Amino acid sequence: MQCGAAVKTFDRIAVEDLTDEQAAAELERLAAEIAAHDRRYYVESAPTVEDAEYDALRLRNEAIEARFPGLIRDDSPSQRVGAPVAEGFRTVRHARPMLSLQNAFDPDAVHEFVARVRRFLSLGEDEPVEMVAEPKIDGLSISLRYEKGRLVLGATRGDGTQGEDVTANIRTIGDIPSRLKGDAPDVLEVRGEIYMRRHDFRDMNEAREAAGEPLYANPRNSASGSLRQLDPSVTARRKLRFFGYSWGEISEPAGDSQWAFLERLKAWGFPVNPLVRRCTSADEALAFYREIGEARAGLDYEIDGVVYKISRFDWQERLGMVSRAPRWAIAHKFAAEQAETVLERIEIQVGRTGALTPVAYLAPVTVGGVVVRRATLHNEDEIARKDVRVGDTVVIQRAGDVIPQVVSAVPAKRPKDSVPFVFPDRCPACGSLAVRQTDPETGTQDVVRRCTGGLICPAQAVERLKHFVSRAAFDIEGLGRKHILAFWEDELIKSPADIFRLKNRTDALESREGWGRQSVTKLVDAIEQRRTIGLDRFIYALGIRQVGEATARLLARHYGTVGAWMEAMMGALDPESPARRDLIAIDQIGPSVAEDLTAFFAEEHNRRLLDDLLSEITVTAVEAPQATSPISGKTVVFTGTLESMGRSEAKARAESLGAKVAGSVSGSTDYLVVGGKPGSKATKARELGVTVVSEEEWRELIGG
Ligand code: NAD
Repeated sequence: MQCGAAVKTFDRIAVEDLTDEQAAAELERLAAEIAAHDRRYYVESAPTVEDAEYDALRLRNEAIEARFPGLIRDDSPSQRVGAPVAEGFRTVRHARPMLSLQNAFDPDAVHEFVARVRRFLSLGEDEPVEMVAEPKIDGLSISLRYEKGRLVLGATRGDGTQGEDVTANIRTIGDIPSRLKGDAPDVLEVRGEIYMRRHDFRDMNEAREAAGEPLYANPRNSASGSLRQLDPSVTARRKLRFFGYSWGEISEPAGDSQWAFLERLKAWGFPVNPLVRRCTSADEALAFYREIGEARAGLDYEIDGVVYKISRFDWQERLGMVSRAPRWAIAHKFAAEQAETVLERIEIQVGRTGALTPVAYLAPVTVGGVVVRRATLHNEDEIARKDVRVGDTVVIQRAGDVIPQVVSAVPAKRPKDSVPFVFPDRCPACGSLAVRQTDPETGTQDVVRRCTGGLICPAQAVERLKHFVSRAAFDIEGLGRKHILAFWEDELIKSPADIFRLKNRTDALESREGWGRQSVTKLVDAIEQRRTIGLDRFIYALGIRQVGEATARLLARHYGTVGAWMEAMMGALDPESPARRDLIAIDQIGPSVAEDLTAFFAEEHNRRLLDDLLSEITVTAVEAPQATSPISGKTVVFTGTLESMGRSEAKARAESLGAKVAGSVSGSTDYLVVGGKPGSKATKARELGVTVVSEEEWRELIGG
């Protein structure tokens, strides 16, 4: 508790005014606070503060240490990198440590960096200092080990000394060659950044939203979360990319310079960022920084600054490293793009699972080249913590592609009559009580307040119906949000089964404005086509919390038929039952998912909904992957138009036989299946020596 008191007393005292005791207490607080942020950022891929706020903590820690060097703690953030390895992964000891970078936040620090290098190396006034300026990719660093040209290990940075073995996951990334081209050293560790493109990030988050799964805040977190999966097939679906920029262990000299090394990386088959530039002075480096800053918004990946590296390797060697970063490089960070505007109102949105989310509606303002009208306020606690009020002038931040955020209110510009925002304890859509649950095991309160109205809540009902007909669920064409809302209000569709009874209501449908016989027939046909559905899609369509596509597939494969699944779920209602143990024993399904599944079945209205629905549709069994299948464990890519089946069916079939289906050809592809009008994939596959098969050969391979 003493520490808590220290937090309040000293964090506002300027570094120059701290006493020895206060400085020691501050360093203790900062070490603990930064370690907690590091764990959330590196291990959980879910940070709770903005990077700028985190950087400020680190800067304060540095400033105190500079003034009180005798008080530097062993566990100080200035002495370590990243965070320890997460549970579930094998630990890998890096042959050469994976370091962090020193930071520069303004041009002066860049001039000082170059001057420091000059002093250190005792360079003459006129001697140019060649640097390579590279965009600082906002992803996570990775070390890729090749032995005799073959990929043998992929490891995360971890705490810099030991990382996580993510080899199986790395093999699913098309950008990363599994075999090197040309002449490569016998042992070669390539280091670089794994990242996710903005549009892939957007697509993934949309799918997660539809599945009621938590959203990733930005492409970096999603790249980190996607790579560090215990199940590589999840990583495979996440469209991760790679840029190489450095090396770790290497069995022969790496060459003379960073610039030349980047060329070698390309020759071995690694993507290298195309924007890298050679500079010979701080001014040139800063010009590049400005140029990249302007181009930033238009790039399809996030960057958070520019890294300047002394190019000559002999100089790098002489410069060596300080505690956690090389002396020969510095990361010049971009300031987050911020703007001030007025918060006009706060609206509470209700999601499919009843989550109440506050959204800030703003006077339109341009931030980083984009007009922002809405921003997220995250949750009730965040509004209280920042004391954001309606009418306030607020600071908005757009960090790259993420949903804009309200960073803080500007108290000096606050209207006199403003009042703190009171988060509603009733659902704005149905008036039911909205509550924050407390985890019985940990006693912690959920940050999200949820409506308890369940099926009577129109917001939840409409969101659930939308999810039910969405692409990865029943995939009913022509039944969009607008129609669902209108049909719901007119009591044509109150529950999922009603969708399949619409064919009996064609008169009512045809008499609606904007509808005629033809459009009604089209809709009814689209619905009829979906009267038979696979168990995995069926489970997913129910919109049970935490049961996204991947989990639904696991359940479908495990239980096989809808009858077996429902019986098992009813059996699992008792937490001590063998059925519950069996459920939790499924790889990737933990107690918390089991809890949500059984909570769904515990509700009588949900069971009635299922019975009603099953009286209208047929659910087909999903076969468990056959270990004996010739394509089990293989990576397959489809290209061109297939004649005998659609692309999604081909994909589902391959997956049910235990194969992984990738979107692009790489060294780790086993088969490329070529339909009519194939594109460049076939050429690439032949170049890489991948087995190319026709659709007919493919059908033979998988048994018809
Ligand atoms: P860093 O991000 O400042 O720099 C080092 C990293 O840059 C390397 O490990 C590498 O992964 C990456 N990088 C990207 N492009 C590169 C290139 N071309 N050449 C070399 N490296 C390149 O260091 P860090 O220690 O990983 O993280 C610190 C930063 O992470 C902080 O400044 C903060 O912004 C963020 N962070 C935020 C939180 C939070 O809670 N919000 C927590 C921890 C870290």
